[in-house]
Formats: sequence, C-alpha cells, structure tokens
Amino acid sequence: MKICKRCILNENYPGITFNDDSICSLCISKTDFIPKGEEKLIRIFEKARKRNKKYDALVPLSGGKDSTYILHLAVNIYNLKVIAMTYDNGFMSELSLDNIKNAVDITKVDHVFYKPDQELQKKIYRIMLLKTGDICGACDIATRACILKASLEYDVPIVLYGTSPLEDNSFVPDSIEDIGRFKYVLISSGEINDKEIKDFTIYPWLNDLILSFNKLVGIYPREVRPLFYIKNPSDKEMGEIISKELKWRDDGREYSRHLDCIAEPFTNYVRNRIYGYERRICQYSNMVRNNEISRAHALELYEDDKIDQPPENYIEILNYLGLNEKDLDQILSYKPLMYEDYLSRMNRIYQWLAKFKRFLQ
Ligand SMILES: [Zn+2]
Repeated sequence: MKICKRCILNENYPGITFNDDSICSLCISKTDFIPKGEEKLIRIFEKARKRNKKYDALVPLSGGKDSTYILHLAVNIYNLKVIAMTYDNGFMSELSLDNIKNAVDITKVDHVFYKPDQELQKKIYRIMLLKTGDICGACDIATRACILKASLEYDVPIVLYGTSPLEDNSFVPDSIEDIGRFKYVLISSGEINDKEIKDFTIYPWLNDLILSFNKLVGIYPREVRPLFYIKNPSDKEMGEIISKELKWRDDGREYSRHLDCIAEPFTNYVRNRIYGYERRICQYSNMVRNNEISRAHALELYEDDKIDQPPENYIEILNYLGLNEKDLDQILSYKPLMYEDYLSRMNRIYQWLAKFKRFLQ
C-alpha cells in the first residue's frame, strides 16, 4: 500500500494522489493555517453582547478537549455569558462526565443535558450501524438538532463550536450526516416509523438550505468556530491550559481524541475496515504537516493504536446495541457510497449554490 513519505496518509484516502517522490497531494497543497483574526471574533462577540440577552453564547460541551477549551475561552478570556449544553449520545465516558462537572462548577455557567429516549436512540444506532457501518452520522444529526433546540429554547444568539483546524480532512466519502439519506435508510429498514424519526431528529424537515437561510436572517443562531479565528495553542498546550483552569483530565494517552465517547475507538476500527483509513491517521498526518510531531512519532502513535484490531470494549458496544459478533461481519461488509442516491434534494441544491456563493455559509 502506498503511504505518503511526508505524512502517514495512505492511498485509501479519497481523492489522494502521490507525486514521483511519494509525497501525497494533501502535503503538496498544504498551506499554513491562517486564522481569520481575533478582531473579527471579538466583533462577533460584541454583536452578541449588544443583543442584551440572558446568554451571549451557547457552548456545546462534550467534556473532550476542544469543547472544554472553547468554554474556557468563552468564559475566562472573552467574558461571555454562557450556557453550556451536553447531548448525551448514550456512550459518554465517566471521564467526560467528570470533566463536564468540573468545568461547569468552576466556570459557574448554567448547563443542561439533552437526552433522547434511550431505547429509540439504540434502535436507530443499531439500524444505521447494520445498514451503513456507521453510527457517528446519527449521533451528529441528533447532536446538531439538540444544539439548535437548546439555542432556541434559551434564546442564545451564537453557538460556539470546538471544531478544530486539526480535525480537517477526517471525513468519510459517505454523506453520513445527510438527513435524506438518514431517513431513507431508517424507513427502508421497515423497523421504524415516522413518529420515531421525528422524535429523534426533532427537525426532520430541516435541510442545509433552510438552515443557512434561517441563520442568515437571524432566526437561528450564528455558528462560530473560534479555533479558526485565533492562533491556537498546540494540542498538548491546550490540554495543559484546561487542566490548570478547569481541572480537565485526559485518559493518560498522548494525543488522545474524542475521549468523550466510549464508542469512538470502535467506530474508528469499523471505518478503517470499510474505508482503509480512519480519524486518527488523518489527525496524526495533520499534526505532522503542522510540525507538531515528527513523522516517525506519528507512525509510532498510529502503531500503538492497533487500528486493525477491534478495541477492548467492542463487545460491550455491540451488546449495548443488542448486536453480536456475527452482526459485526454485516457491519464490516458495508460497501461505501451505497446510499448516495438518497441524499436530501435540498442539501444537494445547497451544496451546488455554496460552490458559487460563500455567503450562504
Ligand atoms: Zn502526505
């Protein structure tokens, strides 16, 4: 298998090409991350403050590194009046719950949990996993819906996402967050009804076009990704800052990610089997490109992840969803891009428009 000689990405990554020196197209086209500028971020915050609401910003808080760091920025650095919210995806780790508790106690922000009906959540995960080899898309759809619901319920003008420039490029080719695809897979399973889909998705009619229009005219809150505006500390420094300020802890592993979700290693294992790459290899490759770690170190870290073996807790995850090892064979046999014909038409129109007009953002 072809592997880039500069980063550690392999030939399975969608659209990747290699030059004569075996350097991948992502490394060749890499440009340094240029923050949009702190003054722009401050302007957004000032505008939110001027609305004189009970809260200036909503921070979705998973207890992971990025979202906890965003809470620290919002409260301690930019003095925003914050409400934090957590979507309980059914796989929250003890560690993340501890981190949330500490961060909320120390910052004294208001905090709410959103939790869908657990049996329904499991049923939807089970169907999606068996049919598409993925549960992260279902989790993302529900998380986004709950964030929107919380921001409307508490009348908050902006939502601060912890999305980091480091996590760029770790997508899969399937449109796993598409609401049209999601509904098609569920309905065609014959195991779920419209009401259940509505309960889970909260806004089953919502598509990217309606969403961006409502954001544009101010009916929905503006989504802001602070880490794209400012020069960020390294991954390691970020952990050190929130450990000191908000008693945040990680799992003791170097450069762990998504320690907020106990199913994440399992989803990475499945992704790697289906697509030939997963989140971690993308993350380490980004870090090499950003000169945060050496390529040799990235290879070591990747080796330690033992991505070709199911993680220790995979039986626990399967059992929780009412699945067994035999079902795992079905999950791993998913052929990529099987449901791309069923994407929401409105999402397609939005993507087409977005290519031409950035203002729809
Ligand atoms: Zn590369």
